[in-house]
Amino acid sequence: MAILVQKYGGSSVADADCIQRVAERIAETAQAGHQVVGVVSAMGDTTDDLIAMARQVSADPSDRELDLLLSTGEVISCTLMAMALRTLGRSAVALTGPQAGIRTDAAFRQAQIVEINPERMLRELERGTIPIVAGFQGMTDDMDVTTLGRGGSDTTAVAVAVALKAEYCEINTDVEGVYTADPRLVPDACKLDVIRSDEMLELARHGARVMHPRAVELGDVYGMPVVVRSSFSTEPGTLISRGDDMALEARQRVRGIAHDVDVGRVTIAAVPDRPGIAYAVFDALAQAAINVDIIVQDVDREKESNLSFTVGRDDLEKAVAVVRPVAAEVGAQDVHASADLAKISIVGSGLSLGPGYAARMFGALAEADVNITSITTSEIRITCLIPESDVPRAARSLHAAFDLDEESLTGVAS
Ligand code: ADP
Ligand code: ASP
Ligand code: MG
Repeated sequence: MAILVQKYGGSSVADADCIQRVAERIAETAQAGHQVVGVVSAMGDTTDDLIAMARQVSADPSDRELDLLLSTGEVISCTLMAMALRTLGRSAVALTGPQAGIRTDAAFRQAQIVEINPERMLRELERGTIPIVAGFQGMTDDMDVTTLGRGGSDTTAVAVAVALKAEYCEINTDVEGVYTADPRLVPDACKLDVIRSDEMLELARHGARVMHPRAVELGDVYGMPVVVRSSFSTEPGTLISRGDDMALEARQRVRGIAHDVDVGRVTIAAVPDRPGIAYAVFDALAQAAINVDIIVQDVDREKESNLSFTVGRDDLEKAVAVVRPVAAEVGAQDVHASADLAKISIVGSGLSLGPGYAARMFGALAEADVNITSITTSEIRITCLIPESDVPRAARSLHAAFDLDEESLTGVAS
């Protein structure tokens, strides 16, 4: 019998009614002849609430304790889901990440799965029991509980699917699939029937939170088909595929727009222009485990440069504190931070094939009166840093400029 992993996100299990409805869906899937494994997120806003509670007792809660605390959100939903399934007459067992055999490294808050021992899950499946696994968590060799980064239950689901050699992995969420832009921001956004994993990865890394980036990566590396679909309908959703079988014509375009407001920028002004300074700054940030995204440096005629980089907003204060002493040491004039910028990106494998995409993007933003602060590119993406307040206008104008509405897409994207 084929194994199918079904993940249900926070809004799909937000209250007791939702949990009962999802339990019915899981039971129906099992009834239809699948060996199902459920993976669940914390109910509704539980994770945010737990973080807020930690901040009420400590300005700087320790990562280890925070991870143990946050892991309880998913433990609540997996236990309730297993109880609801039993009420429906199905045999089910709730498993925490560690009980499901998920081993991670010790990078609290952003742990990576190192290995999954699937024996317990397989044993339960053989007995006809449905394992319901708590997403977003695992355990280190020292038996410390870790979490996988915000949105990480998707990664649990794909990793479990790989470990169990499942037929495919379903990500059930509160939209019908992957759209050409966040449908909450762009009313004309269009659902895609299929998307290449390299395009999905770029969208996910640049703010399309419908999939956790690491989950897309795992699906791609291990060739695990992933389907994103709605928990509330029976529509087929979006298949994320390696893309070998997709028509070339479908590559010759922009596939989607992503936006990300989790952007903090640090600027070091008037840095002397000599070797070793970038190393000093970014080595200090690396030692402090701060992830840096867009880096821009320019040198003026006086042989001084401005060096700026972006980090997640949660890391902004820490990044400034790390950089300030380094800046003073190298003789820079000033360090300042801003938290009012956002990233807007166009993504599509077509970008590597044709010229003119950048000009079209900048033209659309100019027409919408959006000022661009910095620009970065990859082979299949162009990202602009813009004021956060302009994001909705920018997203809609880019969506229109690249013909991503329903009519233009028909016959090309899917
Ligand atoms: P879950 O709790 O199920 O994991 P998330 O909130 O993490 O759900 O992700 C789903 C949300 O992602 C949607 O409600 C939507 O607003 C947002 N989103 C952003 N970009 C996209 C996109 N390109 N396609 C679909 N949804 C997107
Ligand atoms: N509950 C976690 C979060 O809110 C993980 C997830 O939902 O995937 O980030
Ligand atoms: Mg999510």
